[in-house]
Amino acid sequence: MNRFSKCPGCGAELPDRQLPMSDRYLASGECWELYGELTANNMVEMDPFFYHQLCVDAYGAQHSGGPVKPITTVFSLIGLYLAVERGFTGRQVQNAHMKLAKKAGKGAEWPRLEPPERTWEITVSDVVSAEAGNSRKEMIKKWAETVWRSWAHQHDRIRTLCEKWIL
Ligand SMILES: [Zn+2]
Repeated sequence: MNRFSKCPGCGAELPDRQLPMSDRYLASGECWELYGELTANNMVEMDPFFYHQLCVDAYGAQHSGGPVKPITTVFSLIGLYLAVERGFTGRQVQNAHMKLAKKAGKGAEWPRLEPPERTWEITVSDVVSAEAGNSRKEMIKKWAETVWRSWAHQHDRIRTLCEKWIL
């Protein structure tokens, strides 16, 4: 009998292997493991666009809430905004994150943003299933776009934060 575990973050249903939950994100161990696979793969590819950053932010925004630190959610959403609406490359998003962290300083307080209640169109499982190379890159872009769209209730807040701190 195949049993499935449902990820509390993205809702992906994956064969249950009784893995422990992620300690960084609101994610099942099975989903977290797939994400680890994806990021290891990204490192091998080392593309100049740096798709890896889109993965980090899409995953972060999709697995927020619960034990996840507010800064993780805010940074993920800022990254998605810059990539999706402002056309930043992953590398430019990474630089913006560093700039923001520096400006805000260590003790900065970040608002806790509650994730939307919905099912997600694309999860890490779809991304890993896409063939490495162009189809996966396309899927990563779509993933970032759909996750950003799902957070519509926080768009204004994130845009304002970006205008104040980055743009
Ligand atoms: Zn998940």
